[in-house]
Amino acid sequence: MARLELSNLHAEVAEGDEQILEGVDLEVQSGEIHALMGPNGSGKSTTAKVIAGHPAYEVTEGEVLLHLEDDEFGEDIEIDEDQRTWNLLDLEPNERAALGIFLGFQYPAEIEGVTMTNFLRTALNAKIEEREELFEDEDDEDEAEDDEGFENSPMEGPADEGEVGVAEFQGILQEKMEQLEMDEKFAQRYLNAGFSGGEKKQNEVLQAAILEPSVAVLDEIDSGLDIDRLQDVSEGINALRDEQGTGILQITHYQRILDYVEPDHVHVMLDGQIAKSGGPELAEKLEDKGYDWVREDVYGTA
Ligand code: ADP
Ligand code: MG
Ligand code: MG
Repeated sequence: MARLELSNLHAEVAEGDEQILEGVDLEVQSGEIHALMGPNGSGKSTTAKVIAGHPAYEVTEGEVLLHLEDDEFGEDIEIDEDQRTWNLLDLEPNERAALGIFLGFQYPAEIEGVTMTNFLRTALNAKIEEREELFEDEDDEDEAEDDEGFENSPMEGPADEGEVGVAEFQGILQEKMEQLEMDEKFAQRYLNAGFSGGEKKQNEVLQAAILEPSVAVLDEIDSGLDIDRLQDVSEGINALRDEQGTGILQITHYQRILDYVEPDHVHVMLDGQIAKSGGPELAEKLEDKGYDWVREDVYGTA
């Protein structure tokens, strides 16, 4: 179990002083589905990027904390008392990812000659290695440094200690793809080459299934999907929650995906703040009445 906690989060554009987030409060726990809704330009994507540690934004006030429970990494890693709470704002993006935060589209566009399988295995091993470094006992440090000169190319070759090897990874991938009801051929394709919009979104879900994050932030994963793809992607998101207890922060402008990925909590963002929170009924009300209704309700004017 893990809990991501944003409190009084203020952020501005790094190059300049335009304030975008003006005090965001939000808590997402493993196993919960939260919908973050709001009109264009309200600060939804900025919230996602600040959680992930995007360098374009500077946090000027507030906190992003991640609280971990004992069992977070299974038997791999024992969490000490002083390693239960992490201030994500002090950490690099890859360290945040290693602690269990997933933000979609963390992969480059198209890379020639790299299959999805290789890409996903590399991503998983990078996470495992980073996690070992974060939780490493100080006595082990010298040993880890000695190893460094002998690392294999990340894309091929036998696995280092602690890494997932090619054969083992095939098993993991197959299981996850079955879970998501994805076509096996997918994994043999080259990274993003000729992928349709829908396939890219499915890849995003597959990546989250492989990395098993505590909290996945999915920004407009529903945009541009036809109804069949929307259903496939939605089933995948539900599986992340049901099969591996991932908490979901589902960012969306439209109510439509929430018919398939039913949120426990719905939040409406306006002008860089969460203006309203509620249950699924809030999303339905937005569908009927639009965002101006929230603005009127909160500010007394549209
Ligand atoms: P949303 O995802 O809710 O549509 P964003 O978080 O993308 O909104 O943007 C919120 C506001 O901040 C918008 O007015 C946008 O133009 C501005 N903004 C976001 N990122 C930047 C940036 N890197 N540089 C300048 N303005 C930005
Ligand atoms: Mg600045
Ligand atoms: Mg956005």
